[in-house]
Amino acid sequence: MLLIRGVVDAIAQDIEPPPGTEVIDASALLVLPGLVNAHQHLYQVGFRALPELERVDMGGWLAGLHGRTLHAWKTGRFTPERIGTVATAGMVESVLSGVTTIADQHYVFPGGDSAPYVEAIIAGATEVGIRLHAGRGSMTLGHAYGGSVADEVCQEMDDVLDHAQELIESHHDPDPLARIRIDLAPCGLHVDRLDVYREFASLADANPGVGLHTHAYQEFDTSFCAERYGMTPWQLLGEVGWQRPGVWLAHMVDAPHHEIDEYAAAGIGIVHVPAPDLRLGWGLAPIRAYTSAGCTVGFGTTGSASNDGCNQLGDVRLAALAHRTTDREPANWPSIRELLRMATRGSADCLGRSQLGRLTTGSAADVAAWRLDSVDRVGVHDPVAGLVLTGISDRCELVVVAGEVIVRAGRCTTVDESKVGRTHGSPM
Ligand SMILES: [Zn+2]
Repeated sequence: MLLIRGVVDAIAQDIEPPPGTEVIDASALLVLPGLVNAHQHLYQVGFRALPELERVDMGGWLAGLHGRTLHAWKTGRFTPERIGTVATAGMVESVLSGVTTIADQHYVFPGGDSAPYVEAIIAGATEVGIRLHAGRGSMTLGHAYGGSVADEVCQEMDDVLDHAQELIESHHDPDPLARIRIDLAPCGLHVDRLDVYREFASLADANPGVGLHTHAYQEFDTSFCAERYGMTPWQLLGEVGWQRPGVWLAHMVDAPHHEIDEYAAAGIGIVHVPAPDLRLGWGLAPIRAYTSAGCTVGFGTTGSASNDGCNQLGDVRLAALAHRTTDREPANWPSIRELLRMATRGSADCLGRSQLGRLTTGSAADVAAWRLDSVDRVGVHDPVAGLVLTGISDRCELVVVAGEVIVRAGRCTTVDESKVGRTHGSPM
């Protein structure tokens, strides 16, 4: 039994619940800590399954997505309100697959204006009841500066920094059990100026609990950094003060093997994001090498323009199967429990949230539970492995965040799921 309020008060065989406590019979459920998605771009829920991006490389994907974004913006559809509604749809989908915390990275501000997209996503998270790390992203290195994206989707550095400061002052909560935190999250070294990384590092230093997050080693940025700077992304991150705890890096697909011990020594987090890595043809990150070196490894889905879903549990299944093709030695394949640890406490540790992603006395009362008695789980011998390997019933029966039920009997209780699907789910 678990006795939970805002945190887990007690775990024992027999607990006498205090008067007024709701008792939930979980005997037919598999109960895990809520999943933590350490890399997401919720605005991209409005850009799923774009036909021209179905089979493209990273260059084509970047140009295509930003072209669509600019078109939506110029025709009045890329508004904070609209971003808030598609993000809400993505958060409801996430919650239904067991995610209780999302680290979002919103980096696109068309026309250079700091319109309140991040604020709209925060409002959606508050409505859904999910924990959110709202990453104030940026793109500051457009074609005019020799970067990889159109100038019209980029911003000036001072505008980025002013808005980041404003978001921290109005929304960041340093409390260990915070529902909302602000992180600083430049999109990548191929689309951001080095000074943005430096300034963000100083801003994070001045504000406890503000994390630093970016993309790294997605092949495209690796070759860009070699050509422009004559360095690897990791070397450049060292130049800007980002080789340190509180930094977590998404993808890390083509990192040079000789650098891996440095990642572990620096105390950074690495987010494994297998679905887009496969979709864009990069292959899989060498997560066995990362875990063997002692790196902190979390798990994420990325945004829906390159996944195209927010189902983290489904992506755990994908990882469990796909890694078997990269190594002939079965003992090296990540186990189901190892991947689930990445998707819970590994991600939480990337975010600097040691009370999330685990169920121990004193940890946050964030719980995800799936039915064990559904037809597709008949015959399962190991329920934990079965949750991932049977792979059909991803939908949670019960989800609790900070002791509050937000999914009950497989339905989201905080927002009307069918209404979200109908009114907010249409493409941008
Ligand atoms: Zn991403």
